[in-house]
Amino acid sequence: MKTTKLLQEADVQEAAQIIRAGGLVGMPTETVYGLGANGLDPAAVARIFEAKGRPQDNPLILHIADPVWLERYCRNIPQSAYLLADRFWPGPLTMVLSRRSNVPNRTTGGLDTVGMRCPSHPIALRLIREADVPIAAPSGNTSGKPSPTTAQHMLEDMDGKIDAILDGGPCSVGVESTIVDLTCSIPRLLRPGGVTLEDLTQVLGRVEVDPAVTQLMKAGDRPRAPGMKYRHYAPKAPVTVITGPAVRTARYIARRAQAGDGVICFDEYQDLFSKQVVETLGAAENLEEQARRLFDALRAFDHTEAAAIWAQCPDCKGIGLAIMNRLNKAAGFHIVEV
Ligand code: AMP
Ligand code: MG
Repeated sequence: MKTTKLLQEADVQEAAQIIRAGGLVGMPTETVYGLGANGLDPAAVARIFEAKGRPQDNPLILHIADPVWLERYCRNIPQSAYLLADRFWPGPLTMVLSRRSNVPNRTTGGLDTVGMRCPSHPIALRLIREADVPIAAPSGNTSGKPSPTTAQHMLEDMDGKIDAILDGGPCSVGVESTIVDLTCSIPRLLRPGGVTLEDLTQVLGRVEVDPAVTQLMKAGDRPRAPGMKYRHYAPKAPVTVITGPAVRTARYIARRAQAGDGVICFDEYQDLFSKQVVETLGAAENLEEQARRLFDALRAFDHTEAAAIWAQCPDCKGIGLAIMNRLNKAAGFHIVEV
């Protein structure tokens, strides 16, 4: 079934109309493509979960066009939220705040908090403004798959399941937004992203990193972000992540990878893998490029026969923490340190 319309920038009005009428629109943002609906309309939001095959208790983020919209949907907003908004909005940062009762349970997965973000992609901002409602959106992939960073990738997962995708070109950040919970006594990083832990610490002073960012959750653990407990970003073939100095991780993989295996590596090392299916992430030092290309790389292996995937991983400085987190999740935290 090919029923999903591909819309262009000139069609923002039409996309906004679909949102207002309770439909689903693929929305470009600077992080990844989102699957958007009117976040105040429980029936529209229910369709997001259906299209993605997403568990009902995994809440959505509300996207707003201006920080002044915060007060419409949140209460008891701490000063820290305004400091962060001043510094990082519009941009790849989601803040978890106490919600007002006009935000439906469907949107928050029944939580009394809500994730709020003001994206910087100009088309996303225009769409939200035109629709004049907060747009609830998770990433636009089928649940469990890598997030889409182009309209084409979103179409692969969602064709026939949603009304339209608004093409805004490839995403500039490439990994989902940073999520920080401001309802805890000490702000807590729930998901690393384009706004780095170092950035947050500069504004907030102290920030705790939720253990689920770096470790596999144990059975019975109650996650702060419900999304943390689900398998994520996974290509069909099993992934092994190798951490350590780049020269060592490249050599480790070269010794073990079979012919035909998949390899995710930094540009400098691709010549070591002439018998493997290679996806390069960018230069070892270029973390921004690696973040941009990571999900495309993971997705690409699903079109190959690779039976196993090996991945080089940067260290946790800056946006490296987000890359490491997504790779580790894709690997089910199957990590080797060398
Ligand atoms: P996605 O961008 O597809 O991962 O979906 C939104 C993410 O935001 C999910 O991982 C959710 O668990 C997280 N999220 C949204 N709202 C909240 C909230 N109120 N508290 C904690 N996490 C949230
Ligand atoms: Mg997602």
